Amino acid sequence: MKLKLITKQLFRNYIFVMAIIISLGLSAYTLNKSYVDSQINKTVFDTEIFLFDYPQGLDYALSNQNLEENDYLLIFDNSYKVLDVYNYDLVVGQQLDVYEFQAIYDSNQLYHYLFTDDDEKYQIILYLAPLEKNTLLIVAIISIATLLFFVFTIVLATRTGKNIIRPLNLIRDGVHEISKGNYDHVIQFETGNEMEHIRDDINLLSNQLKTEISRRKKLEAQRNQLILSLSHDIKTPLTNVIGYSQMLLQQENLDKNIKPSLEIIHKYGLTAAQLSDELFDYTKLNNNDQHLQTSAYDVVELIRIKLIEYVNEFESLNITYSLELPNHPITCQIHLTSFNRVLDNLLQNSIRYNHQDFNIHLAVFLENQDVKICLSDNGIGIPLAYHETIFDPMVRVESSRNRNLGGTGLGLSIAKQIMLNHAGDIIIDSSYSDGAMFILTLPKDKTPQ
Ligand code: ADP
Repeated sequence: MKLKLITKQLFRNYIFVMAIIISLGLSAYTLNKSYVDSQINKTVFDTEIFLFDYPQGLDYALSNQNLEENDYLLIFDNSYKVLDVYNYDLVVGQQLDVYEFQAIYDSNQLYHYLFTDDDEKYQIILYLAPLEKNTLLIVAIISIATLLFFVFTIVLATRTGKNIIRPLNLIRDGVHEISKGNYDHVIQFETGNEMEHIRDDINLLSNQLKTEISRRKKLEAQRNQLILSLSHDIKTPLTNVIGYSQMLLQQENLDKNIKPSLEIIHKYGLTAAQLSDELFDYTKLNNNDQHLQTSAYDVVELIRIKLIEYVNEFESLNITYSLELPNHPITCQIHLTSFNRVLDNLLQNSIRYNHQDFNIHLAVFLENQDVKICLSDNGIGIPLAYHETIFDPMVRVESSRNRNLGGTGLGLSIAKQIMLNHAGDIIIDSSYSDGAMFILTLPKDKTPQ
């Protein structure tokens, strides 16, 4: 099917409007012409003949003229005394002054005619009433024309809307739906113009996006599966490496030259095992279909218990601590093991990277419908340049600090994933410069307790 162009449709609309304007113009012209003609017909009052006939009497003079019901005629002498009256409320012989005379003439100048004879003996005011029929006709036609113009304009606007604006709105809604990830949404309309090309292109694009995204998801799932299998399969050889190196290290008659090498094997075996475990956990947590089985817990109580667990370690390392907790419970839906893992990771990082003689501060507070848990220390902190990527896997600051404290660079990315799986989040506060400050967010449990 050959598509009609929007230009053609608009052209047709313009022609339509032009036709309306031209027909309205023609009707106005015809109307005006008939009105002017009727006025001309009406003003067949010959003042010359009237003045010639008048000395023979008013009735005689008027019998040769064409006066109608609402017309009137007043004849004054040159001192404004009424000489004769036709159809007007004045008495013959009545004396007017110039102002009264003028007032009559001014009362409706448009239809008044003032004329006089050559000797200026008479001053005559003639009034020819407008044809009422014509005035009504003009009003009626103008009203009908205005009404028609509005009706046609509405018809035109509806046609334009149907062909251009409605499809544009459908396209906008469709693009909005697709941008939300609803790739099954199909934009549907028929206009017979280029809008259908845009509709088809967007539908095609959405289809291609859907295919591409499902291909990527499949690839990602395969990659995740590979990492999971790898980290699982490497476990047995690593356990053997760690176990046998440990066993050899414990032998009493161990050759002194071999001991350092064995210690290195044992140490790196442990690091590799930790890395493989964390990689396994991270990949598993990253799986979208991983749903946490949560239960309602009082976050304030969990933080208090966590602190008690660490008190001895803090004291032995000379780490001071402070708490800022609300004096009422705040309940959240929590997967206890995972949540504890996040807290442990943050506290152990603080201990590991700052070592001793510093302060750890823990605070819990409510912000709108969210629970915030703030964990900060006044240690060495994390350089600002790392703040954007610190939650990405394998990001460690140690290489630039020239220290090796044995981390895998996966701890914070696992913590992030756990918080996201709780419909919460974890961020690092870049405005805090005394050390490192992490803020955890959890949605407050809305189910009645
Ligand atoms: P790792 O398992 O190596 O500790 P993380 O993801 O837990 O990895 O942490 C990433 C990096 O962030 C660490 O290498 C460390 O340099 C830095 N870091 C984390 N917490 C702190 C902290 N409290 N103080 C200073 N540096 C920290």
